Amino acid sequence: MNLPPITVESTSEAPDCPACGGPGILSAQVSHPVTHRRAMAVLCETCDIDDPDAGPLIAYFAVNGAIDSETLDQGTSLVATWLSTARAKPVG
Ligand SMILES: [Zn+2]
Repeated sequence: MNLPPITVESTSEAPDCPACGGPGILSAQVSHPVTHRRAMAVLCETCDIDDPDAGPLIAYFAVNGAIDSETLDQGTSLVATWLSTARAKPVG
């Protein structure tokens, strides 16, 4: 399975949640593999904690604070799972 190229913004620069206006935990830019249009997804604790695909990632950040070299594999796997169902908004 080919995952789209993603850019995950650092936690401190995550935008506010577009749904509730609360602080985002992190954001990711996804480039569509065919059209190359970019979309932005924001992870929000308030909106996404009950999402079965986003909840584990929120828990991961609650425990680890950020993705670092020791937890990179787990973190990137959780991000990929989240992005597979995240409501990404087109940008640009
Ligand atoms: Zn929200």
